Amino acid sequence: MMMDTGAISALVLAGGRGSRMGNVDKGLQPFRGATMVEHVLARLRAQVGPVAISANRNLDAYRALGATVLPDELPDYPGPLAGLATGLRACATPLLLTVPCDSPFLPPDLAPRLLAALLKNDADVVYAATQEGTRIQTHPVFCLVRANRLAELSAYLREGGRRVDGWYRGLTSVEVLFEDSDAFRNINTLDELRAMDDGLQAPGTLAQVASCVNGYDPEALSVRDAQRIIRQFVQPVRAVEMVALRSALGRVLARDLTSPIDVPAHDNSAMDGYALRGADLPLDGVASFKVVDTVLAGRPSSIVPGPGECVRIMTGGVMPQGCDSVLPQEFADSVSDEQMTLRAGVIRAGDNRRLAGEDLAKGSPALRAGRIVRPADLGLVASLGFAEVPVQRRLRVAFFSTGDELRSIGQALDEGCVYDSNRYTIYGMLQRLGCEIIDMGIVRDSPEALEQALRTACENADAIVTSGGVSVGAADYTRQVMAQLGDVTFWKIGMRPGRPLAFGRIDSNGRSAFLFGLPGNPVAVMVSFYFFAREALLRMMGADAPLPLLRARSGAPIRKKPGRTEYQRGIVTRGADGEPEVRITGSQGSGILRSMSEANCMVVLHDEQGNVAAGDMVDILPFEGLF
Ligand code: AMP
Ligand code: MG
Repeated sequence: MMMDTGAISALVLAGGRGSRMGNVDKGLQPFRGATMVEHVLARLRAQVGPVAISANRNLDAYRALGATVLPDELPDYPGPLAGLATGLRACATPLLLTVPCDSPFLPPDLAPRLLAALLKNDADVVYAATQEGTRIQTHPVFCLVRANRLAELSAYLREGGRRVDGWYRGLTSVEVLFEDSDAFRNINTLDELRAMDDGLQAPGTLAQVASCVNGYDPEALSVRDAQRIIRQFVQPVRAVEMVALRSALGRVLARDLTSPIDVPAHDNSAMDGYALRGADLPLDGVASFKVVDTVLAGRPSSIVPGPGECVRIMTGGVMPQGCDSVLPQEFADSVSDEQMTLRAGVIRAGDNRRLAGEDLAKGSPALRAGRIVRPADLGLVASLGFAEVPVQRRLRVAFFSTGDELRSIGQALDEGCVYDSNRYTIYGMLQRLGCEIIDMGIVRDSPEALEQALRTACENADAIVTSGGVSVGAADYTRQVMAQLGDVTFWKIGMRPGRPLAFGRIDSNGRSAFLFGLPGNPVAVMVSFYFFAREALLRMMGADAPLPLLRARSGAPIRKKPGRTEYQRGIVTRGADGEPEVRITGSQGSGILRSMSEANCMVVLHDEQGNVAAGDMVDILPFEGLF
């Protein structure tokens, strides 16, 4: 039977009395910027068709979330099975998936994996389980059931049965093992809820995060400390989606991928030649082998060569039983259709054979969550037979430029004005990171315009990148408006170019977004983006991709003041001895974008570093390969 996860309706079980939650409605408890049930709904909607909520209180609040709300048909809260019975009766699809309302971390692949097991076993009910040490913990509330099994459930309820896994005793039920037991964690008490909300969410305010920096001074912050605060404050976006393999290129893998098979599946030949038993190789002189069959790639032979026999084999051909070595055909002394002779010593036992599972052994992790998928990974995933992969939802980033002197290309350049170039550089950098981008144009230096732009950005994006207005110019209202809208701090960072940076989180109409207020100077914008925003955005995307700093020899002396980090634009080439050698480009002014364009790397001179002598090693950040 062909069926996909669209044939599944989901039912969120929110009908409890909430006694352990102090009688509050669990599903509606705030958790990480939303209610608990909203997290559940978001995860379900990415996986299944229609979603309903089984609830007996606060029906309007649940309806407001855009789901069908189904109160129990049985009186007196008989428990989750009553909700399930109502859900099954209302279910318009062949299958119904149930999950509890207090499981905000439920697995992103719950529905597809349960469905696969249900179809494979032709089961009536399948449910999740996890391995806890040596014990299997079942999670019968996370179950996928055929809607036509309502009769069995009703009969069980009539008998007074209440056990969640009691009713399907007569049916075919199958347990599906999931790796991540945290995904099934449910939150039962208000204290637990609060603990989780603080523990995993960024500790409250920026000030709290900043307090972990010794002698924190926003007016004189080191690059390292600023990076540390940003890293601790931003939160990953948790939504996951399944995409077709090709579409995963450049996306962030959301889950470890485990190989379901050995790759290659069989021992096979690495050469065109003759497969033989290593024990038959001669110690000296010449030996001759009888050719008993031919093996082509994809066409194994069932013949088992005996002593002194061999099989002609092509690259990729499955090694015949008993054979462990391949003589490449060009190494044979003589060959005919029936006979092959070889000389002692041309190969050793075991040569030219690829072992089953040598690329990837069954059950071994093929790719780790957090990886940005590259072309080789696409091939690797294909070799495992996966057509779809779980990736993090794309990060939505809104950006705009501020400043009354800015003109958009296409407009006349009035006196004293400049074309807005930052929006193009920022576009390019965000695009390379794989973000979904929202270009909001130029925003005038007026409090109303800035507030409106920031609110719109906040309500539509996960992060906001602005340029200009964060230093203390007279017409710069940017700081004032940013500060009004949330928890934003303004730093003076010990760096050149750069220095002013606004960072924090703003809120508007119940939505929040992380904010990076970059300086206006065109080089400073890029430097600040690469060294502050980039890592933070990647973290929000769930990716693990530190800046690829390399070492190169400085071809000339560089003047450098200790006590601040300097980012000089450089050109790295192969020196006379073949080793990488870097020279800084001519003009290093922070407004001179040409220096960036001419450069192929940035020379990073750290805080403590002083003048660099010709021949000293320095850190560089190559631009190519940087995303
Ligand atoms: P600000 O940080 O707003 O004081 O801007 C510092 C300098 O960068 C000023 O010379 C601005 O004209 C320039 N600048 C600001 N934004 C942009 C932009 N989007 N494109 C080009 N130059 C800009
Ligand atoms: Mg300005």
